[in-house]
Amino acid sequence: MKRLYWMSPDIFEAEVKVKAIADGKVTIEPVIFHPDEGGQPADKGAIGEANVCNVEIVNGQIVHTLDRPLSDGKYIARLNKQRRLYTASQHTAQHILSGIAEKQFGLGTTGVHIGFERCTVDFDRKIDSETVKELEQKSMEVVTLNIPVETVFNDTDVRIRSNSREIESDVIRVVKIGDYDKSACCGAHLRTTGQIGIIRIFDIENKKKGTRMFFLAGRKALEQSQLETSVLRELRKSAGCSTSELSAIFQKTLGHSKELTKEINRLWSRMLPELVKSAEAAEVESSKIGIQVTDVPRQLVTKLAGMIAEAIDGTGIVVSDVSIAISSNRMNANELLRKIQNTVGGKGGGSAKAANGKLNRTVTTDELITILKHY
Ligand SMILES: [Zn+2]
Repeated sequence: MKRLYWMSPDIFEAEVKVKAIADGKVTIEPVIFHPDEGGQPADKGAIGEANVCNVEIVNGQIVHTLDRPLSDGKYIARLNKQRRLYTASQHTAQHILSGIAEKQFGLGTTGVHIGFERCTVDFDRKIDSETVKELEQKSMEVVTLNIPVETVFNDTDVRIRSNSREIESDVIRVVKIGDYDKSACCGAHLRTTGQIGIIRIFDIENKKKGTRMFFLAGRKALEQSQLETSVLRELRKSAGCSTSELSAIFQKTLGHSKELTKEINRLWSRMLPELVKSAEAAEVESSKIGIQVTDVPRQLVTKLAGMIAEAIDGTGIVVSDVSIAISSNRMNANELLRKIQNTVGGKGGGSAKAANGKLNRTVTTDELITILKHY
């Protein structure tokens, strides 16, 4: 099994010998499609007229799943070049990041994922944003130096990262990037580090005892940076300040907003007793009901219904726009809610003591009384 992309990663088209092993499944020689392996997604493309839907390792063989069967013979195989260049860029960038992280910061790589929206490297320890900044700068130096990405075989001085556990061949293929990285890997890479263009680290998050680092390389990194720049531009425009002032202004605004919320809650708690008193009194099945149809914040609808029920030792019904809450010491709140919903529609429910939900339309106090008395 000759993996052409190990030594010639820039061959995107080749004549291959196809051997059918099952319906729509073939092996090819030489192999030009990278399988789903080591955190790098499978290549796509075509073999003859058949599209390659998936490439995976099955019992030590690289198996291609096609959208139609192919009989044994020679065919031209073509890679989806854009997809390969994307995954190879991210993967080569990951080698550089993991290599520098290990050599200069003593960080071991415990996992790698190459995705089409985001890529991650997991490290075995916690790292801070200063380390991230330095790691990003140093990795960009390696890009600028345009160092060859070399393949050597059976090197004795090699680190095997956890993502390379699936190596099943008798030869160990080692990928070497100058003095920056040397590790066993089955993946597809770029020829030189300069082809990556850009490496950006966008975020870090805690992952158990270690750190998950989010990065992107190449055009995708540029696009993500442009997106973040445009968000910053919008924020600067709204806040009327410079980028460096944004954080302080945001914190101040957040604090102000919390103060206002507190103030509003305080004012409402003063007004609620008045709304209890002004609730419209009705009697249904010789039980007292207090109804209040008014605008109150959604989170206070249930509280107010409870206060009314308590005050009249009966049932409190509160409707604010289409939100409804019923609290009852004497009747079944859930059944009352269902009775109202049967006429005006809506959803929600609860227990005998308390129920709440949404109505399909607004209602008046008189309408509610009519529904409760006659339906
Ligand atoms: Zn690799």
